[in-house]
Amino acid sequence: MYAAGHLAEHPAGTWIDGTLVSRAPGRVEVDVFDRLPTPWGLVRSGVAPDHPQKKDVAGVFEEIATRDGVRLIGNVEVGRDVTADELAQWYHAVVYAVGAREGRRLDVPGAELAGSCTAHDLVAWYNGHPDFAAAGPVLSGERAVVIGNGNVALDVARVLSMSPEDAARTDIAVHAEDALRASAIREVVIVGRRGPEQAAFTNPELEELMALDMVDIIVDGAEFPTDESPATTAAGARRKRLLAELLARQPRGLPRRIRLMFGHNPSRIIGAEFVTAIELTSTSGHTTVLDAGLVVAAIGYASVAIPGLPFNDVAKVIPSSAGRVDGLAGIYVTGWIKRGPSGVIGTNKWCARQTVGALFDDVNDGLIARRHPLSHAEVLETLTCRGASPVLWNQWRTIDAHERAQGMASQRPRLKVTSRHELLELAHG
Ligand code: NAP
Repeated sequence: MYAAGHLAEHPAGTWIDGTLVSRAPGRVEVDVFDRLPTPWGLVRSGVAPDHPQKKDVAGVFEEIATRDGVRLIGNVEVGRDVTADELAQWYHAVVYAVGAREGRRLDVPGAELAGSCTAHDLVAWYNGHPDFAAAGPVLSGERAVVIGNGNVALDVARVLSMSPEDAARTDIAVHAEDALRASAIREVVIVGRRGPEQAAFTNPELEELMALDMVDIIVDGAEFPTDESPATTAAGARRKRLLAELLARQPRGLPRRIRLMFGHNPSRIIGAEFVTAIELTSTSGHTTVLDAGLVVAAIGYASVAIPGLPFNDVAKVIPSSAGRVDGLAGIYVTGWIKRGPSGVIGTNKWCARQTVGALFDDVNDGLIARRHPLSHAEVLETLTCRGASPVLWNQWRTIDAHERAQGMASQRPRLKVTSRHELLELAHG
């Protein structure tokens, strides 16, 4: 959406080194495709339900989507309804902003057992992503173990520890709220392979965890090796203060706990069909076995290849330079498919600006202006003729209004529709 915004605000004309030297009549037209009938990617299916303020960015995206020349086309998937080759012919330029749609899996024995999952799948499930609605996690054990020390690990730990009453005030999927109500989980252990000062999570997210009023945050001094050397940055000093405060805390005997363990790696997941325990090995070689019914790998996300486009299978990105896809004129990338899965929502603003800047430079250099793209109407006609069912802006607004109205009845921001079939029925009437 940031890329669409940069494109739509960019006057058409001749640009030299970022300066508009002659303005052409007309405007840039942008079609934004999504494989889901609902837009906004991770804002809908990734941001934690208890972080409503982070979802306010959807308002920025709505403003972009309703600009002159911008059009949303949901429920159209590259590789299923249209090929990358066709898109390259239909448009002057194509920007892929497809993100990272898989979670990285643990490479240890037992990772395939029921009860072992990726944070990506769990997050998509509790956020009502239609492809994950049926794949509920095992919440019948008293302990869950989350591997990884990024912000996603903290999100997952908070949500698994959420009371059903708190969950009911969010836009969490109803199936997840019901599962949390029946959940036996009383302790979530977050396991980091490095020390607390090196942990990838950010200080505000750690502070948020420490401020939870119905969850004890437990740390074990022996598993909590803090670095004695002075902090060299403000964030480092803040981290040290938070860690000292955590170490000094006494558990309050609350019914739910989140335990932070550092300097440990998973060595195997134990169980016959279902996970029953996990073995962790410390950096000093000491092993610990924790009983657990759920193991969540929050060790990062991974992008998947798009047929017809190059893909670096190690870095899990489409290889590019300043947003230009290697070897393909007129094809660009932005976001996690370009940079890899790191950075917050706002990071994508400058990332998209760089890509769109490169695109306009290429227009000026005559690299992509010679094409004869399809008109807006021809694109839709071609898609519908081959059996696709695009969901357009007003149809998404119908879904949106329905979800908000359903949510209002129970004091929630929205009640998400989580079945693709139902979403399409709402969209198409
Ligand atoms: P991340 O920040 O890259 O963290 C991944 C974690 O997994 C790191 O602690 C990493 O350890 C660990 N790890 C990687 N491979 C591992 C392995 N094989 N075994 C054990 N641990 C392993 O990724 P993320 O948490 O998925 O977050 C992705 C991005 O989204 C981040 O930029 C994050 O800040 C952002 N995000 C932000 C928010 C928010 O603002 N509230 C919420 C969610 C996500 P090392 O550090 O040792 O490599």
